[in-house]
Amino acid sequence: MTKLKNIIRPDLLTMKPYSSARNEFTGRARIFLDANENPYGSSFRGVTGMNRYPDPMQYELKERITRITGIQSDRIIIGNGSDEILDLLVRATTMPGRSNVITVPPTYGMYRVVAETNNVAVKEVLPGDDFMFSADEIMKAVDKDTRIIFICSPNNPTGILAPSEEVNRIVEQLDGLVVIDEAYIDFSGTEGFLQLIKDYENIFILRTFSKARAMAGARLGMGYGHPELLRVLNSIKMPYNVNSLTLAAGLNALDREEIYRSQVQRIISNREKLTGELGKIDGIRKVFPSSANFILVRVDKPVELYNYLLAEGIVVRDRSGMPLCEGCLRITVGTENQNRILVEEINNFFAGKPAGEQTDNQVVKRRRTRETDILVDINLRGRGIADIQTGSGFLDHMLELFAFHSKTDLLVRASGDIDVDMHHTVEDIAITMGQALNEMLGDRKGVNRYGFVMPMDESRAMVTIDIGGRNMLVWNVKFHDNTVGRVPASLFKHFFRSLADNAGFTLNIEAEGEDDHHIIEAVFKGFARSLKQAAEITDDRIQSTKY
Ligand SMILES: *Cc1c(COP(=O)(O)O)cnc(C)c1O
Repeated sequence: MTKLKNIIRPDLLTMKPYSSARNEFTGRARIFLDANENPYGSSFRGVTGMNRYPDPMQYELKERITRITGIQSDRIIIGNGSDEILDLLVRATTMPGRSNVITVPPTYGMYRVVAETNNVAVKEVLPGDDFMFSADEIMKAVDKDTRIIFICSPNNPTGILAPSEEVNRIVEQLDGLVVIDEAYIDFSGTEGFLQLIKDYENIFILRTFSKARAMAGARLGMGYGHPELLRVLNSIKMPYNVNSLTLAAGLNALDREEIYRSQVQRIISNREKLTGELGKIDGIRKVFPSSANFILVRVDKPVELYNYLLAEGIVVRDRSGMPLCEGCLRITVGTENQNRILVEEINNFFAGKPAGEQTDNQVVKRRRTRETDILVDINLRGRGIADIQTGSGFLDHMLELFAFHSKTDLLVRASGDIDVDMHHTVEDIAITMGQALNEMLGDRKGVNRYGFVMPMDESRAMVTIDIGGRNMLVWNVKFHDNTVGRVPASLFKHFFRSLADNAGFTLNIEAEGEDDHHIIEAVFKGFARSLKQAAEITDDRIQSTKY
């Protein structure tokens, strides 16, 4: 504990923490009359036990993390995002008005914010032109009041991994804490510095559920370090800093590690592909190789490009004002489709094409019932950008097909317990999409009105549509099994009926084939194409006297 004695604020070593009701009792109990909670369950469905305070030490989650990382729970702190832990670190180690911390710019802005909030000075040590830093340069800036050196690896916004020899030398030489922020380590293909906490007491690792684990909305971060430091951090944090919903979400996500792993692989391969494609664009002067899920590029006209992309509905991050980042934009790696559109638009910019008139054809609909909560954001005259999360992978895939083949920009969010109640979810998505389409088509003036297609792969589907406003479904689709992709086959008919009813479509759908999966794909594809045709604006003014 030699180093930690000098690192931790001395008065905190002996401070008595708040003792919550849930901390004080030990043993087993059935009747909890200690925390003034409502003894009846909450009306909120989804997480049970919401009437009780959450576990202040997040014991169950830590145990799961131990199983994954091999790090014992007395070395772990769970925070309301890793940002909370950053703040705790500064408060646990610094004296306001006296101490300082060191950062290596360009880097994450929160290090400065948490330091300055605590009236702690920030010293910046600029790295070389290649963003590489040396231990010697950093150690030169250290004085007797330096408490923390923040190192971000892979670094935001450069995407570069910290050189491990230099980090090791800093850890060995510094009489202070080295905080290594590994928010993006999952994308790096390396183990990071986590296991070093067993060898050095002055190293602290930060990780998060916000990036690779796709849970930025839950606010869940982890910190790892020496047990004595962890004891102090845990004693100064708010007692119930992580809420029951977030804890349940974290545990639930860890039950599905395979999704996380496959998404990380997909993002890495998208990153490599995007890096290559950006490198081929003439106006891009440099693409920095990245170990994270974003790419830093240096371009000739960063502000103009930024504004052009924005006019096309694409937001990236302008980092050109940061040290050593002249002309730089930071681009998050998106889905295959999003990246394709991004590259297209950057090419258009450098080819001198004017920014397209943003067709403001978007309709947003929200439908909240006791069973489900559905959000649909749709633009029938878009580019096929799909962002679908229904809770059913198969339905997501079908709606993506629809978006792609009808060039519809479609965002769908559905929450509700899809495992228990797929019927309600599917119906409510169809209703919401139908209402949105109806509103988007408005008075139907000047559109084709009719559509007809017959896509033929292994399966054949025939879809005719009249979007004129009357609703009817004729469904002649024969499946071989009762379920397709774990969705009850009958729900697809139900989906199109609810959609037709709410959109004002007359739909006639026939399909047959060998394979149920291909049959339903052909149906969604056919529906997409025929709707596209029907919604097309023609020069003929009005299609029917009724409209
Ligand atoms: C996004 C990010 C985080 C995550 O912070 P949370 O509070 O856990 O969401 C931490 N560090 C860096 C460098 C980041 O870019």
